[in-house]
Amino acid sequence: MENFSETKAPIHDPEDRVKALIQQSSDPRINPQRILKAFQIAQQGHAGQKRHSGEPYILHPIAVAESLAAKRMDEDSIITALLHDVVEDTSVKIQHIEKTFGADVARMVGGVTKLGQLRNYSSEKRQAENFRKLIIATARDLRVLLVKLADRRHNMQTIQHLPLPEKRLRISRETLEIYAPLAQRLGVHDWMQDMEDHAFNQINPDARASIMARIDFIQNQAKMMSGSTSIQNAFTNLLQKHNIEASVSGRIKTPYSIWAKMQKKHIGLEQITDILAFRVIVEDVPACYMALGILHQQFQNVPGRLKDYISLPKINGYQSIHTVVIGPHQERIELQIRSKDMHETAEIGAAAHWAYKAHAPIAEPSNYRWLRQILDILENASGVDEFLEHTKIEMSGEQVFVFSPKGEVYDLPKGATPIDFAYAVHTDIGDHCAGARINARIAPLRTTLQNGDQVEIITNPNTQPNPTWTYIAKSSKARVRIARALRIQKRDQMLDLGKTRFEQILRAHNQPWDDEAIKAYCSQSQYTTTEDLFAAIGASMISPHKIIHAMYPNLKPFQKQRHPSVIKRLFQSEKPQPKMKIRGLIDNMVISFAKCCFPIPGENICAIITTGKGVTIHTTDCRELDKFADMPQRWIDVEWESQQDHLFVARILAVIFNRPGSLNDVTTAIFQAGGNIMDVKFNNRHADFHEVFIDIEVKGLEHINKIIAGLKNVKSVHSCRRQKA
Ligand code: MN
Repeated sequence: MENFSETKAPIHDPEDRVKALIQQSSDPRINPQRILKAFQIAQQGHAGQKRHSGEPYILHPIAVAESLAAKRMDEDSIITALLHDVVEDTSVKIQHIEKTFGADVARMVGGVTKLGQLRNYSSEKRQAENFRKLIIATARDLRVLLVKLADRRHNMQTIQHLPLPEKRLRISRETLEIYAPLAQRLGVHDWMQDMEDHAFNQINPDARASIMARIDFIQNQAKMMSGSTSIQNAFTNLLQKHNIEASVSGRIKTPYSIWAKMQKKHIGLEQITDILAFRVIVEDVPACYMALGILHQQFQNVPGRLKDYISLPKINGYQSIHTVVIGPHQERIELQIRSKDMHETAEIGAAAHWAYKAHAPIAEPSNYRWLRQILDILENASGVDEFLEHTKIEMSGEQVFVFSPKGEVYDLPKGATPIDFAYAVHTDIGDHCAGARINARIAPLRTTLQNGDQVEIITNPNTQPNPTWTYIAKSSKARVRIARALRIQKRDQMLDLGKTRFEQILRAHNQPWDDEAIKAYCSQSQYTTTEDLFAAIGASMISPHKIIHAMYPNLKPFQKQRHPSVIKRLFQSEKPQPKMKIRGLIDNMVISFAKCCFPIPGENICAIITTGKGVTIHTTDCRELDKFADMPQRWIDVEWESQQDHLFVARILAVIFNRPGSLNDVTTAIFQAGGNIMDVKFNNRHADFHEVFIDIEVKGLEHINKIIAGLKNVKSVHSCRRQKA
C-alpha cells in the first residue's frame, strides 16, 4: 500500500539517464566515473540487442539501476545492476569485471547470473537450481537479492511484451510465489506491490479489472460525499489543534492486495469496504501515540484492527501503528501512523543498511531469520525440488510471534506448534524435544501456538524425531529437519534388515561371514561402502542371492525364497489399479482412503501400510494416526499430484433449522456449487435443529470449501463444517 512515488523524468538518451541517476543521488561516496564506466561496458556488450518490446536492451539494466538508486543503494550495487546481464548475454567475461570493478562487484554479478549448462533440465528444475544459487550468493551478500528483485521488477513491468503466453504465466506465478514475498521480507513494499500487480494482471486480468472498477466507484463516492482531500484536511486540522505537526497523505490499496483479502476471507468484492487509507507522518515516537489517541477520540475505531508495530517491530525492521477508524460518512478508513525515521526505513527497507546517512535502526543482514531458515532448508533438503517447495511454503502465509523464557521473539508460521519453536531455537533442541510448557503450563506438542505465548521446551537426550512430528510441525525448517532424521532412521533400519537377510542366506549356504570378500565385492560394484550395499538389500533394491553367487561363483543354486516383507507383496499385487495420483508410492500399491477422515486433493496426507490391504491414506490431522505413533515403519510420506482425474468423497456436518424445505435448500445449494451428493444421514434430531451428515463427491479441498462457504449463506443452515472422525 505505497504510493508509486518514483516518477521518472522522460529522458530518452541512455547515457543521460545514467547521468541523471548519479546526479539525483545525494550520496557523496559515489564515484561517477566508475558508474559511467560500467554503463559503457554494458552498452557496448548489449549493442544491437533488443528487448522483446523492441527497445534497446541497455534500457533494462538502466531501469534496474534506477530502482536501486531510488532506494539509495551504494555504488557497487548500482554498478552490479548495470552489468547484471552482460556475463549471461554478451561476450564480456567475469574476469574482466573483476579486474575493472573489484571482487565485490564480480561476486555480485556472478550471483545474479543464471547457471549455464542446464539445457537438459526441465524449466522447473532450472528454476530451482538457479534459485538455489541465488540464495547461496545472497547469504554472503544481501545486495545480490536486492539487485535480483529490481531485475525481476523491471521484467514484470515489461512482461506484456513476452510472446509466449505460457511463459508469461509461469514467470508471473514464480513472481507471486517467490519474488514478491522476498521483496516483502526485505521491506521493499513498493517493489512487492508493483510485481504483484503486474503478475495479477497476467494471471487474472478480469478480476483485476473489476476490482479497479470498484476502487474507482468507492473513490468517486468518497469524493462526492466529502472529498477525500477534505478527510485528509480533517485529520491534519484535528492534529494541528492539538499541536501535532503531521503530514497526512492518502493511499490506495492495490488491486492484488484487495483480491488476496477476498480470497483469504472468502468474501465478495461488494463486501470490501476499507479501500480508503491514509498515512500520518509525525516528528517522533511520542507524537505517534499522541496522534493515535487524538484520532481514536474523534473517530470510532474498529475493534481488533489496532496493531502496534512500534513496540513490536516486524522482522524486517518495519515500524508503524496501524488502525482502522469509522470516517465521517460511516466509511472504514485505514490509518498508518509513524515517525519520519520510521517512514524512511519503511520506504527503502533493507536498502537502509547501505543507504547513505541511514539513521533508522535496521537489522544486520545476518539477523534476517528467514534467510537463515532458507539456508537451513537448503542444507537439509533431499533435493532442489524439496528445497524450492519448502521455500515457497516458508515465503507464503501469516506468522505468529512467540517468546522464549528469556524474552527473545521468534516468528513462526501461523498454526505452528512447540515442535516448530524447538527447531527454531536450535536443531538439537528440536531433535530431542520431549515436551513443552506454554505460559508456564505443560501442554501437548500438538498445541497450536498463539501470538504472545511464552514457550519453554523440555528436552530428553533419548527422544528422537518420530513420523507423527512431520504432521504436527508447520514450519519448513522443522519439517525438513524431521524428514531428514527419519530418512536416516529408515536407512539404519534398512541397513539392519539387509545385513540380517544377507547373513541368513550365507548361513543357509554354509558360508562363513567374510568382511574381506564383501568389501572386495563392493569395490567392483556400484556400492561404495558395505553399508550402502546392506541398505540396498534391506530396501529390496538388490537381491542378496545375486550378490552371494557373485561372491562365490561355485555355489550350488539355492532354492529361491520369497522376500517376506510387506512391501514386496504390495509390489506384486496382480490386480490392475486405477491410476491414483499420489506421489511417494510405489506403482501398483493397493490404495484405499480412510473412512475416518475422507482425504481429498489439496489436503496434507500420509499413507499407513496396512498388512494385506496395501496402504490407507489419511489426512495428516486425522486422530486415527495416533494409533500408529510408535510404528514408524508403517508410515510413508505421500502427497497429492496437482492434477486428479477422479472425484473424491468428502463428508460434511450441517446443522439445519427444523422447518419445511430446509433439506431441499441444502441439497440445492450443494448441487449449484457442482457437488454430487452420495449419501445423507440424520445424526441428531432436535426440536429446533437437525444434524445431518452429507457425503459429497468433490474435485478437491477448494471445491468442498466453496460448497461449505455457499452453505453458510443458506438461510436454513445454522452451521456447517467438514466432518472427520
Ligand atoms: Mn535482467
